[in-house]
Amino acid sequence: MPDRNSTSAAATTAKFIFVTGGVTSSLGKGIISASLAKLLQARGFRVTIQKFDPYINIDPGTLNPYEHGECYVTDDGAETDLDLGHYERFLNVPTSQANNVTTGRIYDHVITKEREGAYLGKTVQVVPHITDEIKRRMLLLGQTGQFDVVITEIGGSIGDIESLPFVESVRQLRWELPENSSLVIHLTLLPYLKAAGELKTKPTQHSVRDLRSAGLQPDILVCRSEYPIPAEMRRKIALFCNVNINSVIESLDADSIYSVPLLMLKEHLDERVIKKLKLQGGAHPDLEAWKDFLGRLKNPTEEVTIALVGKYVELPDAYKSINEAFVHAGAQNECKVTVRSIQSDHLNADNVAQLLHGVDGVLVAPGFGERGFEGKIQAVKYVRENDIPFFGICLGMQVAVVEFARNVLGLPEASSTEMNAQTPDPVIAMMEEQKSITQKGGTMRLGAYDCELRKGSKAAKAYGRNHISERHRHRYEFNNEYLQRYEEAGMLASGRNPETGLVEVVELPNHPWFVAGQFHPELKSTVQNPHPLFVRFVRAAIQFRKG
Ligand code: GLN
Repeated sequence: MPDRNSTSAAATTAKFIFVTGGVTSSLGKGIISASLAKLLQARGFRVTIQKFDPYINIDPGTLNPYEHGECYVTDDGAETDLDLGHYERFLNVPTSQANNVTTGRIYDHVITKEREGAYLGKTVQVVPHITDEIKRRMLLLGQTGQFDVVITEIGGSIGDIESLPFVESVRQLRWELPENSSLVIHLTLLPYLKAAGELKTKPTQHSVRDLRSAGLQPDILVCRSEYPIPAEMRRKIALFCNVNINSVIESLDADSIYSVPLLMLKEHLDERVIKKLKLQGGAHPDLEAWKDFLGRLKNPTEEVTIALVGKYVELPDAYKSINEAFVHAGAQNECKVTVRSIQSDHLNADNVAQLLHGVDGVLVAPGFGERGFEGKIQAVKYVRENDIPFFGICLGMQVAVVEFARNVLGLPEASSTEMNAQTPDPVIAMMEEQKSITQKGGTMRLGAYDCELRKGSKAAKAYGRNHISERHRHRYEFNNEYLQRYEEAGMLASGRNPETGLVEVVELPNHPWFVAGQFHPELKSTVQNPHPLFVRFVRAAIQFRKG
């Protein structure tokens, strides 16, 4: 049995902030966590954010984007929750496998240990074995010595059966950690009842009661609301939820997620946290670069429309990082980028001109499986022939390669073996070492790989250097047996993996902007470092629009 303040928990000097949510999902826990982290970072603290998700999947890698939105991939090849994308976009600090843990991963670890006999014949139980493993992982990043503050977002809502072990683990950890080194921020909703003409606090009170019955007293409440919260109501919430009135933080709907750090600054969220955690040595927050970005975002001088051709376009979260990369690249160019989603399986040779009418650039999205593949081919043919700026990502590059084979190299049946295993011209194919893998989870080329860019190519000019590293998530590759024919016909392999020779970027030098990558540049675009390929693509779209 751990003693208070005497376990490994006490050995870390980091401070821990736990963020829970109540009343409903989609309150923006990820954005609030990222915004608080940004404010603390702006004061000079080293901050990281991790997410604990209550579902049983080992990771979101096998989840359909319709279920859980985009799967975000880290440098170390972890397939993670899309909130990690927000953490990186706000903080400009890479995350890793350690930043996302699911119930499935916890159980997998504990059950494997049980099979190995590590529990010496004991009954293995949620308390203490599962909670011990959760606590161990909650502390890991704090124990590296790299961070002053670790923010842990607990997925799901308070009251869900599956989040109970996480809440219990937080309860235990708070008891084990030294005084003033942890706190709980609870997010709730203040619904506005039109008929009554007022905000209602009851759901918040109930949600806090649920949290307390699980053993956690929140220190700070962040109340999501469509209207400003009157002072009298703040007092009421404070009284009935047992928090200080200054710790009732208003979180109004924002025009952009990137405005939320400033809204939280106005509400003094960072000051409350610093005071409660007795954080020493913080400076006045330096948010100049952030404000500069917001200024450019909100005062565009140009405007373009980009078609996003994809298979999951009904759900904006499925292409979260791509949409955000356009926000960053737009601000960089002082350009409002309107993304027009086009369902790829609606596209065909007859309607492509009509559906792409008026767009200034086309991005063909990543994806898996056959559905919508032929529609994407039509989109690429159209932009290639009409000199419309084009950007292909992952499957989008593979489509560009297949389209070129069919319509330029004269190989009408060329395809990717993912779409047609019998194609006589497998210009995109699976590599030998991938073929033996039959399990679906974690079987792809995942994470960061180096890439050497050809000097003078469009890609090299965009990056301003020849050596890059980008993140991957795919099984199929450009088939190098065809490479010479491509280059002779005018499609350049302008980026290659220096070790394997795999083609990572293709481009058409005789087109205003036709660049496609096997990797996912969108995953590395941040407010501080908008991705150069997105920046150049938006610039090409501006030029196209001006004619
Ligand atoms: N389905 C393709 C592959 O597995 C592309 C994957 C992707 O776009 N992320 O190679």
